[in-house]
Amino acid sequence: LKNFENKSKNIKVGIMGGTFDPIHYAHLATAEFIRDRYKLDKILFIPSGTPPHKSQSITNKFDRYNMVNIATENNDHFLVLDLEIKRNKKTYTIDTLKDLKKTYKNIEIYFITGADAICDIETWKDVEENFKLATFIAATRPGISLLKVQEKIASLKVKYNANIIDVYVPSLDISSTYIRNQLKENHSVRYLVPENVENYIKYKMLYRYGE
Ligand code: ATP
Ligand code: MG
Repeated sequence: LKNFENKSKNIKVGIMGGTFDPIHYAHLATAEFIRDRYKLDKILFIPSGTPPHKSQSITNKFDRYNMVNIATENNDHFLVLDLEIKRNKKTYTIDTLKDLKKTYKNIEIYFITGADAICDIETWKDVEENFKLATFIAATRPGISLLKVQEKIASLKVKYNANIIDVYVPSLDISSTYIRNQLKENHSVRYLVPENVENYIKYKMLYRYGE
C-alpha cells in the first residue's frame, strides 16, 4: 500500500474486517467477487484484535492473523494489515477507518460486510461516523433474509445518510462457527478452508475438542 501514498489518483480500497476464527473460502470468495465487480485496487484484510461483540472465547489473535496471511498470500490484490492486532484495547472499526484515512490520504474506502453484519451495524461504536468515512458494501449471506437486509439498508440510508450498496455474491453457506464445530467433532474441513490454513490448524492444534 506504501506505493500508493504519493500518487495523485484516488485508489479504491476494499476492507474485509472480521474475527477470521478461522478464515474460510466464503471470506475469500466474497472479497474477490466484490473487488472484481467494483474494480477495487486492493482488498485489505484486517483481522480484529479484541472484537467487542464476540462472546465466545476466540483464538489467539496472532494465530488468526497468521491464517489470514497464508490464506491470502497468492492473491496480489489482497493485503493483510495488523493495525487491529497491534492494539491492546478492544478494537472498533471507527478507529481503524480513522487510522487508515490519516495514513493514506488518497484512498476511497469500501467496507465489505456480510448481510448479518450490516443488520447489526447500529450496535457498532460511532455508527454515523463510520458511514461518513466509507461506502459500505453489504454482501448477501445464506440464512439472512434479503428482504430484511434491504429494509435495514433503506432505513440506514434515511437515518444516517449512509452510502450502502447491497450486492448479490454467489452463496457459500460456510461460517467460522461451522468450521470450528466440524473440527471439534473431528470432521473434515477440506475445501472449506484453504489447504495451507487446514495445515496450520493441524500444526498448531487449534479448535480441538474441549479446548
Ligand atoms: P463466526 O461464525 O465466528 O461469526 P463468520 O464466518 O461469520 O464467523 P466473521 O469473521 O464473523 O466470519 O465475518 C467476517 C465478515 O465476513 C463479516 O462481514 C461476515 O458477514 C462476512 N461473512 C462471513 N461468512 C460469510 C458468508 N458465508 N457469506 C458472506 N459473507 C460472509
Ligand atoms: Mg460472524
